[in-house]
Amino acid sequence: MALDSVDIPVATIDRLFARIEARRDDLVALARDLIRLPTVNPPGEAYRPCAELIGERLRGRGFAIEYLRGAGAPGDSDRHPRTNVVARIEGRGPGRCVHFNGHIDVVEPGQGWTVDPFAGIVRDGRLYGRGACDMKGGIAASILAVEAILDESIAFPGAIEISGTVDEESGGLAGVAWLAGRGYFSRPRVDHVIIPEPLNVDCVCLGHRGVWWAEIEMKGRIGHGSMPFLGVSAVRGMAAFLAYVECELYPALDKRRTRMPVIPEGARASTLNYNSIHGGLAEGWAGVPSPLVADSCRLVIDRRFLVEEKLDDVKQEIVELLERVKRERPGIDYDLREIMTFHPTMTEPDAPVVRALGAEIARVLGRPATHVASPGTYDQKHIARIGHLHDCVAYGPGILELAHQPDEFVVIDDMIASAKVMAATALRLLGGWD
Ligand SMILES: [Zn+2]
Repeated sequence: MALDSVDIPVATIDRLFARIEARRDDLVALARDLIRLPTVNPPGEAYRPCAELIGERLRGRGFAIEYLRGAGAPGDSDRHPRTNVVARIEGRGPGRCVHFNGHIDVVEPGQGWTVDPFAGIVRDGRLYGRGACDMKGGIAASILAVEAILDESIAFPGAIEISGTVDEESGGLAGVAWLAGRGYFSRPRVDHVIIPEPLNVDCVCLGHRGVWWAEIEMKGRIGHGSMPFLGVSAVRGMAAFLAYVECELYPALDKRRTRMPVIPEGARASTLNYNSIHGGLAEGWAGVPSPLVADSCRLVIDRRFLVEEKLDDVKQEIVELLERVKRERPGIDYDLREIMTFHPTMTEPDAPVVRALGAEIARVLGRPATHVASPGTYDQKHIARIGHLHDCVAYGPGILELAHQPDEFVVIDDMIASAKVMAATALRLLGGWD
């Protein structure tokens, strides 16, 4: 039977949704308890207690629990162990596996809060705190969704997994990438993955753009500031490079458009950000500057590229401009150091998990789902590229624009609605209704 025609009995759905609504306080309490563990990354605080909060709760519901430390991955240490949790419960027989994956780390609170960022305060139907939106509210909703299926003793085939993983905010190398390298995000273990990142309750996020971070060092020759013609200024060399980028590369990038439904609209183009620039005297110098020609100037660039672009081309267009500066300016040379690369990834709109979420969003919210893609990357890249699993999307409660902001919150009604969508989607994907 084709997946789209698998309809869950309405009476089952009604019971499931009533159960989720009845457990509203429990859902808020779970999200609040997660927020109260300050899993700030970097450096990666309180990962183990947070993984245990999820793992021991689910163990009590019959899940098999594994705690997996991303040993050997960047950031892992005895002081800050990278502890992931993977929970799995088997259904009534063989079948597919639906996996809910959430990152437990949060970014630092920063300035500007009017409430305690780690208290989990509830006010006017919202739960406030660092990670409320990105993405502890989503983790809590996915746990409640699965618990409601168990509460109602719905005999699903296959298996359901829930994982809490580390370091998404810093690239996920000790988290999803580490697990994917060990088969945790591949067939036959897992068939469908939903990542409850905050992309808005009625949106299915198909994937994300790629990122290439690099540092460019322009190198010149030191000289006396009163006779700059006796040196070679690395800052002037960098200025020449930046002029080419401004006049040629930026206009070219603006013209490239992706077929991916990236939000906000401006991120459908290729983009480049100057992350930092520095040349000459050491940063933070005080007093009188020494009169020197700068022999070094460093620039960090953050290049976001499209699924239609090749990484080699992305690099080559930077190298060509650097080579031109080198040719035109005797005494100038450069180094290019690659810092980090993540490729773009996109799940097709007709993939099973996208269709199932779309059907259940329409049922729960009474409006069609919107397909979006993320301007920045998240853990989907590892599932696609390392796990070779392409039936994976992000879907969860939370307003994207609130992520990483002061006074971050999640709307409790959205957590309830997304829990319903996730529960019904899991049952739809697991099948067994014919
Ligand atoms: Zn996130």
